[in-house]
Amino acid sequence: MSKGTKVPGYMQGKGSRNPRGIIGDREIRYKCSLQNTILDVLRGRPGWQEVPGQNNIQPNVNQANPKQAGSGSTTQGTTSGYKGSDGDWDFYWCDREWLAQNYDTMFLYEHQKILHFRNHYELTRKNLMVKNLKRLKKQTERELGKAEGQSFEFFPTTYELPSEYHIFVEEFKKNPGIIWIMKPAARAQGRGIFLFRRLKDITDWKKGEYQPLSDPNREVPETYVVQRYIENPYLIGGRKFDVRVYVLVVSYNPLKVWLYRSGFARFSNTRFSLDSIEDTYVHLTNVAIQKNAPDYDPDKGCKWSTQQLRKYLSAKHGVEAVKKAFKGIDNIIIKSLQSVQKIIINDKHCFEMYGYDVLFDSDLKPWLIEINASPSLTASGKEDYDLKFGLLNDLLNVLDLENRLTGKEKRVGGWDLLWEDGPILADDGNMECAPNGTTASIPNSFLGCHNERKRQLRELYTAAQSIKKS
Ligand code: ADP
Repeated sequence: MSKGTKVPGYMQGKGSRNPRGIIGDREIRYKCSLQNTILDVLRGRPGWQEVPGQNNIQPNVNQANPKQAGSGSTTQGTTSGYKGSDGDWDFYWCDREWLAQNYDTMFLYEHQKILHFRNHYELTRKNLMVKNLKRLKKQTERELGKAEGQSFEFFPTTYELPSEYHIFVEEFKKNPGIIWIMKPAARAQGRGIFLFRRLKDITDWKKGEYQPLSDPNREVPETYVVQRYIENPYLIGGRKFDVRVYVLVVSYNPLKVWLYRSGFARFSNTRFSLDSIEDTYVHLTNVAIQKNAPDYDPDKGCKWSTQQLRKYLSAKHGVEAVKKAFKGIDNIIIKSLQSVQKIIINDKHCFEMYGYDVLFDSDLKPWLIEINASPSLTASGKEDYDLKFGLLNDLLNVLDLENRLTGKEKRVGGWDLLWEDGPILADDGNMECAPNGTTASIPNSFLGCHNERKRQLRELYTAAQSIKKS
């Protein structure tokens, strides 16, 4: 039997096809590239089995039939295609590098699920994210008018360097005295970021460190974004913070998006001030930066749960103001995903869990800072571990490889269905964060609301079972 027509072990004796495209009553085999909470979740999942030899997958290359990963379905991806695959796993939490190296030459069976869409970087590289957002904003203004375009005013003015250097300089001169932040487009954890006020700082940097001459391994200057710095962040206890929001996309066509109720706010360790713009402990809220601060206390950490944050803000500003602010986050999520909807190579085998970083300014307006395709799953303490464990377990519940759900659910554990080709409205009785007495339709969005995921799952599975039986 050729490589291209091999039948995975579990299917032998059952025929070479699985007409339902689901796994049925056997164990689910997974692979995982990471050694953190996700691996614990997978190992703890009843009926799931680890494939031995982690990361040793050799994709079956069928040069004559490279994967046609277009929008919607892929014939090679179905059992009817059956042109050969890495059929020894059903679920693969792979890293982005693995996907980039293997996706174009691998075939997937109907039931297989893999983390990441092929060109996820369209949203997660800082320069591409802004480029895509600017394009959709312009298109919206053209087709629906300037007023509609205003709904895109959630990302700070940004230019790509070196390509837009001259436009940036013009803009810089129009706004003397404001602060800008310079960020490498493809790095993470605050690396290579700095703030500046004077054009001279940039011309010096451009001539020195930025030149490829200073790094013999680099042929062209690294791509950066230069972005207007948000000078008036919302402060709690004098400290700046940003909010990590988890978003799950299970399909780009149609766009289907889930929003997780829980997340956290990451505080800087040092009181905010514009006097010391060179101090990264004041201005960058990344945990990777803050944990190196001289007075960082690992027991206390620098985190609040999103529930704690919502409660605090509601007590201070009232439920309505906070609802409006959090609705702004929904808008950020949907608009940003729509900005790449036609570009992302949609594939029904792929899913993505994004970590959005959102910063509130002093008017409680949310700003999109960046979107991560590999948000950290390493826990910084017990509470963080519990959050990530529940988040990932519920992600598997949404993907439902066990086929326990009906497919019509609007809530699965801590995940709420925010969008399915259009906004989703909450069911009555699901109004936890709504003001008292509200019965009107509200969006099915509960970021920072109560997350009683275990109870919800129990009820959900009982209900789904009885629906399926009847
Ligand atoms: P990285 O991918 O390296 O984490 P980010 O874009 O997330 O880069 O920026 C790191 C941190 O810097 C953010 O978490 C935020 O605290 C701060 N930051 C980034 N951009 C801005 C901005 N435009 N205004 C204010 N703070 C910002």
